[in-house]
Amino acid sequence: MSDEVLRLEQLCKSFGNLEVLKNIDLEVRRGETIVLLGASGSGKSTLLRCVNFLEIPTSGRIILQGEVVGRQSKGRTVYSEQDLTQIRKRVGMVFQHFNLFPHMTVAQNVMEGPRTVLGLSRTECRQRATKHLDKVGLGWKADAYPAHLSGGQQQRVAIARALAMEPEVMLFDEVTSALDPELVGEVLETMKELADEGMTMMIVTHELGFAYTVADRVLFLSEGRILEEGTPTDVLTNPQETATQSFLRSHS
Ligand code: ADP
Ligand code: MG
Repeated sequence: MSDEVLRLEQLCKSFGNLEVLKNIDLEVRRGETIVLLGASGSGKSTLLRCVNFLEIPTSGRIILQGEVVGRQSKGRTVYSEQDLTQIRKRVGMVFQHFNLFPHMTVAQNVMEGPRTVLGLSRTECRQRATKHLDKVGLGWKADAYPAHLSGGQQQRVAIARALAMEPEVMLFDEVTSALDPELVGEVLETMKELADEGMTMMIVTHELGFAYTVADRVLFLSEGRILEEGTPTDVLTNPQETATQSFLRSHS
């Protein structure tokens, strides 16, 4: 399909004897927002981490913009450092703990990736920082240090930092879970705006109301498999599987 950005084929990941992801097949289209739900330990973080190769899949394939990542050698896929760097430029990720550099200003934090990973000029980095900080509504904090920002603002800077690489896909792993409740809304709002602008996104969240409004498709992961998937209405309002039903009961 021509508007496919990302495809996972029979993706598996084990840690020792523990099979965490079992034959995940998934196709993500351009501009699509996918929300991943599932109990703690079901493999959501591992799935996102495999997509940007913070974890190397045990088997299966990842296809980005029609190109298989890695190359075949003796029946296995092997990944060079160069493959991994390429992927991490093209797939942005935001985590629960934002880990901004405390000794750098907000703008410097956002410029760091474009500067060191993409090798852009100082002027270009500055332009990107301005553009993406404006996008998350924090242009006015460019010269502040992270410690002087609220947790919600810091997380929005972390989003701007990922956006500054101008990735093809953005991954979000429970980015509001560590925030005080009153700071959650501004971060979700920023993500909603990105979705509305057509960013391709995979989001792990327990915010079901947000999932309902932002997702084009909801996937419910259980023990490393996609147990159920569909529109927000299908999965959130009319779940078919017992595990999905009990998850939703315990999170509403
Ligand atoms: P979720 O994000 O859905 O809570 P995770 O993907 O973090 O789930 O974890 C899925 C399973 O994989 C858990 O049993 C977890 O303990 C295990 N796991 C995750 N990362 C590692 C690792 N680096 N080494 C060993 N086990 C891991
Ligand atoms: Mg997780």
